[in-house]
Amino acid sequence: MTTPATHPPSVDSLARHLAQTSSLPHSLLVDCARRAVAQSPAQATTTAEQFAHELSTALLTDVVNATGVLLHTNLGRAPLAHTTTARPSNIEFNLATGERGSRQTAVSALVSSLIGAEAAIVVNNNAAAVMLVLASLAQGRDVAVSRGESVEIGGGFRIPEVMEQSGARLVDVGTTNRTRLRDYAKAIDNKRNDIALVMKIHPSNFSIEGFTEDTSVQELATLSVPVVADIGSGLLDNTAPWLQGHTPTVPSWLVNEPAAKQALADGASLVTFSGDKLLGGPQCGIIAGRADLVAQCTAHPLMRALRPGSHTMILLQQVLLSYASRTVCTDVPFWRMVATPEPELRARAESIVATAGMGSVVDVDSLVGAGSAPGSTIASIGIALTGDQRATLRAHTTPVIARTIGNTTYLDMRSIAPADDHVVVEALSRLH
Ligand SMILES: *Cc1c(COP(=O)(O)O)cnc(C)c1O
Repeated sequence: MTTPATHPPSVDSLARHLAQTSSLPHSLLVDCARRAVAQSPAQATTTAEQFAHELSTALLTDVVNATGVLLHTNLGRAPLAHTTTARPSNIEFNLATGERGSRQTAVSALVSSLIGAEAAIVVNNNAAAVMLVLASLAQGRDVAVSRGESVEIGGGFRIPEVMEQSGARLVDVGTTNRTRLRDYAKAIDNKRNDIALVMKIHPSNFSIEGFTEDTSVQELATLSVPVVADIGSGLLDNTAPWLQGHTPTVPSWLVNEPAAKQALADGASLVTFSGDKLLGGPQCGIIAGRADLVAQCTAHPLMRALRPGSHTMILLQQVLLSYASRTVCTDVPFWRMVATPEPELRARAESIVATAGMGSVVDVDSLVGAGSAPGSTIASIGIALTGDQRATLRAHTTPVIARTIGNTTYLDMRSIAPADDHVVVEALSRLH
């Protein structure tokens, strides 16, 4: 576009100029143009183009996760294959009676059956689940937590701060590296304390090694107050029955992950966990266990502020039904990724490399991600490219997110859905 050097272009002509290369709605392009003219009249055109570009790339869009981090926090953790429709649902309507119903009924029944709980409720995420449990069961009272578990999980979830916000008081128990049952018992017996519950927190992305000792849920369950286990990951059962017929053995990284079913069987009164980590579902948090304690959480005024929308509930229900029908390895992308045999990944990588005429097939290691199974890797197959190609791959129509080690870019086949292999071919073809 031509404009006299001394005159900034009009907002309107600048917006029309932006429309030639941007698909943003006209009103947003006018905003970009107006801000550019106000901020730098002399370079209004380039500034406006930059604003429009920044806004377009900030919009949420589908991406291909080629990082090999199966639950990538920056990419929304667990990808979902289930979908919802545009229709209304019976979210709070009882079809049998024609009266008002509860959005929690169905999911509570499914979760309870899968993990042996009496009842369950769903909130927006696990941080909300922990907050609601503490506010409902321990407001104005004390909660005993091992010093080794008073952790920060990431994204601002810090146990002492969540505790403070909930109105419960944290009572530190034991030491950083060793906490025994008698440390908890001492805190409960101390007349100055008013311990409402013991909370056992899975340190998730943090581990301590060496001269360490912690107290199991089974031991804690012998104490006189309820035990709440924040297991975080959402692994429903650490024998992973849904993997039967898909993997010869339960993967070793799973064995040490705390699981909801076992925590309840060991005597936890409640468990709390995320929906979008090892469960493989939508973002949400689940509280499950003793019916009377779950009912206290349901009755707390915070519950109304923390309840998930109908799309979350419908997606979670579908994922739980996949567990019930043991179709997890085909229906739930996270578990499909885990269960895919290496030869299948290799065949896909070879086909992509041959079609795109780019890259070479190499062995790589995938990570579970989302703070689950820290330090554990899953053998995988990748495509290696010379140089740092991340920015070009990110700029593809459907952005492909890769990682680099040294001067090599890697695309890990395990985190890429087979249906997206053609996207990877197109993105690689651009690199010629
Ligand atoms: C991830 C995690 C949380 C936070 O869960 P969100 O669903 O991200 O809110 C809390 N506690 C533990 C132990 C976790 O691993």
